[in-house]
Amino acid sequence: MQYFSLNNNAKDVSFLEAVRKGLAPDRGLYFPKEIPILKESFINNIGQYSDNQIAYEIIKPYVGDDITNDYLKKIIEDTLSFNFPIVKITDNIALLELFHGPTLAFKDVGARFMARCLSYNNDIKKERNLTVLVATSGDTGSAVADGFYKVKGIDVIILYPKDMVSIIQELQLTTLGKNIIALEVEGTFDDCQEMVKTAFVDPELKEKINLTSANSINIARWLSQMFYYFIAYKNRPNPDKKLLISVPSGNFGNICAGIMAKQMGLPIDHFIASTNINDTIPEYLKSGDYIPKKSIQTISNAMDVGDPSNFIRIQKIFNNDFFKLKKNLSGFSYTDKLTEKAIKEIFEVNGYIADPHGAVGFLGLKQYMDAKEDAEAYQGIFLETAHPIKFKSAVDSILKTNIKTPKRLKKILGGKKKSSQISQYSELKSLLISL
Ligand SMILES: *Cc1c(COP(=O)(O)O)cnc(C)c1O
Repeated sequence: MQYFSLNNNAKDVSFLEAVRKGLAPDRGLYFPKEIPILKESFINNIGQYSDNQIAYEIIKPYVGDDITNDYLKKIIEDTLSFNFPIVKITDNIALLELFHGPTLAFKDVGARFMARCLSYNNDIKKERNLTVLVATSGDTGSAVADGFYKVKGIDVIILYPKDMVSIIQELQLTTLGKNIIALEVEGTFDDCQEMVKTAFVDPELKEKINLTSANSINIARWLSQMFYYFIAYKNRPNPDKKLLISVPSGNFGNICAGIMAKQMGLPIDHFIASTNINDTIPEYLKSGDYIPKKSIQTISNAMDVGDPSNFIRIQKIFNNDFFKLKKNLSGFSYTDKLTEKAIKEIFEVNGYIADPHGAVGFLGLKQYMDAKEDAEAYQGIFLETAHPIKFKSAVDSILKTNIKTPKRLKKILGGKKKSSQISQYSELKSLLISL
């Protein structure tokens, strides 16, 4: 498979080249030259395939011959080393838990897959060592740190704003050590992001080191997220009903993977993009005008995005046809107050403790289903993208609960924080050169 830049001003590249580069040289996002269609018999008999077999079947055409079949199978096995359970909330609403990975959020899937693809590149193809540079406001950094931990030939440098990530997130970033270097930046997330951008265009660095990014626009992160949409389809309750999926969305990478899965032949009737008050896309779906906004802070903070970078890919999937897009996608936005009410409602219905992101997904699904006269004909699934422990203080105060710490987190909580403080770009640059 070849990939082209959505800015149409860079040459086509293969899978691994696109993964290594992240963004095309013309600053465009990579997109596959064609979208493969799966055999109907595969979809009809999906219950007979293991999760790993399903993932292999989906991703193989995108990887092409860039990675050997055996190695790709190994990558998948490593990536999907945890479960994706479905929990029923009502007769026709269920949720898909995506937080059983090491950092308790869905980003583990994409980060693990991407890290292992790059490790193939270094390990087998003996390419020059790679430095992954990433700015984070929390979840991305922890998934990337864990996914790349001890991966040969790769150093990871993570910039995070001092005192602005949660304690759990900071420990996830700073306690691993080895090839993971955490930098605590005197400033905001935007300052971190600015330093990373400067590094990517620094001509001196370009000569001395191989720099790449690991954010959600990387095709390895984006495409591997399709795996759990297929797994959810395989395990869905009420298989005779039409399937709706609601995705709590920020940068729109996750939902873009779901829509891609549908485009490949997965029978999903409709997608719902559920957002917090950062409502650029719900507003776009109403008016047809895309107006990026400054992001506003909310309790579902991993979705505080005012100009979602992956949305352009969703438009491309529908050949930039606004009406086709609207037929497949609805969008709704919710305030923190409504999100809190939803967390309570889910808890009252069946005792399930949802995190604020999942609760937004629930709200979008309910609003879409409530407007349907034949709601009985549908099965809705919303994605529970993070474990509520990551938002413990907010959730506990809403529900008057005391959420228990999952075992796999206890290890991190006992770890020792290792990080260096920096306040300007020159400090980052000297570190990069000294690696
Ligand atoms: C990143 C994140 C999201 C948003 O996902 P996108 O792919 O950026 O739309 C939602 N929930 C949680 C918990 C996240 O970490």
